[in-house]
Amino acid sequence: MEKLGFIGLGIMGRPMCKNLLKAGYSPIVYDVNAAAVEDLVAAGATAGKNPADIAAQCEVIITMLPNSPHVRAVALGENGLIETAKPGAVVIDMSSIDPMESKAIGAALAEKGIEFMDAPVSGGEPKAIDGTLSVMVGGKKEIFDRYQGLLEKMAASVVLVGELGSGNIAKLANQMVVAINIAAVSEALCFAEKAGADPQRVYEAIRGGLAGSTVMDAKAPMMLARNYKPGFRIELHIKDLANVLNASRSVHTPVPLSAQLMEMMQFLASKGYEKEDHASIVKYYEAISGVELGK
Ligand code: NAD
Repeated sequence: MEKLGFIGLGIMGRPMCKNLLKAGYSPIVYDVNAAAVEDLVAAGATAGKNPADIAAQCEVIITMLPNSPHVRAVALGENGLIETAKPGAVVIDMSSIDPMESKAIGAALAEKGIEFMDAPVSGGEPKAIDGTLSVMVGGKKEIFDRYQGLLEKMAASVVLVGELGSGNIAKLANQMVVAINIAAVSEALCFAEKAGADPQRVYEAIRGGLAGSTVMDAKAPMMLARNYKPGFRIELHIKDLANVLNASRSVHTPVPLSAQLMEMMQFLASKGYEKEDHASIVKYYEAISGVELGK
């Protein structure tokens, strides 16, 4: 088995790395949070001193970090992977970041002969624990073919979308559809309430037709129960929409609905709801329509 490094042991990275341990890998791990490293060492991993220390010892390094600046720092910053990785080493970034940054970081690593793929995930913590994430990958086909089996140790679905950056483009497309869909459900249910029909019955009446969706079935019951426990937090969706707006501007593509969603989420953040599930988009609609669902 290849010598494997794993950097970023948060909500997602920790269970993902544990699944690689279970699959027989012996990862060398690093996180700025020492408690996260200790937890993985107790599970059988080895601690690395910093990204450069890991790159000096590993053929393949996985990163699972919050956003673009963290990936740039780990890959290209002081004590970064670029300082010691051998030509031919492969970095697989599984964080959700700006696809333009994936391309830029990949280009900088390529100058030293280091391969880079972007491989963000959807599925959240439960699927990270179960090893049933969906992974969307951007990169060279020959590198993908070599590491598809490794990614499948953490995932139920691993798809090569296209060249470097395509994984994060797919992830952002996913986040656009989800946010806009939650807003559509919120708008419709608040309208129903205000117009005098029971939104619970309206949901039951329309969920089997063309308006029904995975998002509707996941989020309408939460809205109607006033349950905003995350799930996926508003603050993470704000991060993803910021990457949507940045990437779409760089290719001059208007994204009017995503831009509108960003403004709705700024309202939610201003009210202190940023740690809540993104089902709380309905609170924006409740505020502007003067109704409350599930009361
Ligand atoms: P998290 O904040 O829980 O974990 C990130 C980890 O990176 C933390 O342990 C942090 O200490 C570490 N870190 C930060 N900077 C570092 C550095 N310079 N060097 C080493 N370690 C560093 O985040 P998460 O929920 O695990 O998410 C990781 C990525 O996966 C994000 O891009 C997120 O958008 C994406 N994602 C999250 C979910 C989810 O439901 N949580 C679902 C799908 C995708």
